[in-house]
Amino acid sequence: AKSGGRGTFRFFERSMEAAARRKQMLKAGLRTALQRGELSLHFQPLVDLRSGRVTCLETLLRWHHPVHGHVSPAEFIPLAEESGLIIRIGEWILRGACAEAAQWPEPVNVAINLSAVQFRDPGLLSTLAETLKLSGLPPGRVELEITESTLLQDDQANIATLEALRGLGVRIALDDFGTGFSSLGYLLRIPFDKIKIDRSFIAGLPGRVESNAVISAVVSMGRSLSLSVTAEGVESAEQLAALRQLGCTEGQGYLFSRPVPAAKVAALLRQPPFA
Ligand code: C2E
Ligand code: CA
Ligand code: CA
Ligand code: CA
Repeated sequence: AKSGGRGTFRFFERSMEAAARRKQMLKAGLRTALQRGELSLHFQPLVDLRSGRVTCLETLLRWHHPVHGHVSPAEFIPLAEESGLIIRIGEWILRGACAEAAQWPEPVNVAINLSAVQFRDPGLLSTLAETLKLSGLPPGRVELEITESTLLQDDQANIATLEALRGLGVRIALDDFGTGFSSLGYLLRIPFDKIKIDRSFIAGLPGRVESNAVISAVVSMGRSLSLSVTAEGVESAEQLAALRQLGCTEGQGYLFSRPVPAAKVAALLRQPPFA
């Protein structure tokens, strides 16, 4: 048993080393990913659950690594944040997303994820203002998605930043709602336009009591505060039916479409409305 324990420990040690090596490799790779054209933007529709029409497309970053192939943004965004590269990559995403949206055949909105590091970057406001001007995209068509966890600390500074962003005319969506620890009281003081309910709640539909309770509470809060409410991760017709029953008016998920490369957006927007 002793030697087995030691063997297990060595195995554990080796996998820790492998994970650390992978992290170093990815971090180094990120430094050249932009110049080498390894990054690209995909877009996933948000759908009006009453009309079936696409209201917005969320920009999702993709990295094709020459050795590791597709690397998930959930893995590499935190590394880009640690190294500070997220600022440059984030500017590239903003420019690319606004340039694409300006060419879409329908005036649908574009959603862009902002990492915590970008949100705290003093240069964000001027970068965004300049990007909007260059793209010619009306600011009201841009929705910045900020997660609940980004907003947890020093709320005065956060609120000032959010108000400055809204001053440019862009909209603010609170992403992954329900995964953080914010109190409703705090949330009510945050100036935002949309709440995106985390997909862990939608996964519990139609059966789970907690999912139904959270979604119907957020929907009624949204209604009384005139906020849009989006359900993330809609994968099945049963979930869609339950969301409609709960009064939710916007959804996003594989049921409608996987994220698609920029070149496929025009075709997606020409499709008939979703049923
Ligand atoms: P997120 O902002 O919550 O984005 C939604 C994620 O859920 C995306 O994963 C999307 O592909 C996935 N998804 C959409 N519909 C479904 C569904 O029906 N079922 C399931 N299981 N998943 C679904 P993705 O693209 O891998 O991105 C993961 C996270 O990485 C994002 O979560 C976001 O936090 C971050 N991320 C992605 N692109 C960017 C970006 O351009 N900038 C920043 N700062 N973060 C990004
Ligand atoms: Ca998002
Ligand atoms: Ca989300
Ligand atoms: Ca997420």
